[in-house]
Amino acid sequence: MKKRTISLLLTLAMTVVIFTGLGGNAEANYYPNNYKNIFGLNNRQYVIGASASSYPRYLTAISTAVNAWNAASKVQLYASGSGSSAVVFSVSSLVSLSERGQTIFYTIDGSPMTTPTSSWSYAEVRISQALLNSMTEPATELAATVMHEMGHAFGLTHAVASIGQVSIMLPYADRRGYVTTVLDGDLDDVDNLYP
Ligand SMILES: [Zn+2]
Repeated sequence: MKKRTISLLLTLAMTVVIFTGLGGNAEANYYPNNYKNIFGLNNRQYVIGASASSYPRYLTAISTAVNAWNAASKVQLYASGSGSSAVVFSVSSLVSLSERGQTIFYTIDGSPMTTPTSSWSYAEVRISQALLNSMTEPATELAATVMHEMGHAFGLTHAVASIGQVSIMLPYADRRGYVTTVLDGDLDDVDNLYP
C-alpha cells in the first residue's frame, strides 16, 4: 500500500470517529441576527405551486419532508387552508442539477431576498427541474433535499462537516448517503430559533 493511500485511510478513519463521536449537531448556524419568519411556524400552511403539482415524486418528497419537520414542537405546517403560508414549493429550470434546490425569502410586501437581510413572511423552496426529471435520483435524496431547503426557509444556514456537525443542513456533498432525514439536533435548532 502506498504511503499516500495509508494517510488517506487514516484521514477517513478520523472523519468517521469525529462524526460518530459527536452524534449530533454541535451548534446551529442561523442567518445573521436570527432574522425570522414574522409569524412563526405554528398553524401555518404550505402551498404546492402549480409548477410542482405535475411531479408525483416531488409531491411525495414534500409530504415526507413536512412530516419530518413537523416533529419539531415549533413547526406545525398543514397542507392547505385559509391561513398564511410559511413555505411555497415550486420547480425551477434555473436551478441546476448540481445545485439541486434553492430557497428564496419574501418580505411581507412580497419583495424577494436571496439571503434574508430583514424579517421575512414566507419562503419559496425551488427544486431543480433537471433534478426532478432525473430518473436516477433516489427518492430518499430528493426528500432530503426538500428537508434541507425547508431548513433554510425556517432560518437555518449550513452546518459544517469539518467541525463535526451532523445535520440535514450539511451541504449535499457532505450529507449525501449519510444524513437523509431531519435529526433531533435539527428539530432542536428550529425550536430554539423561534421563541
Ligand atoms: Zn443549502
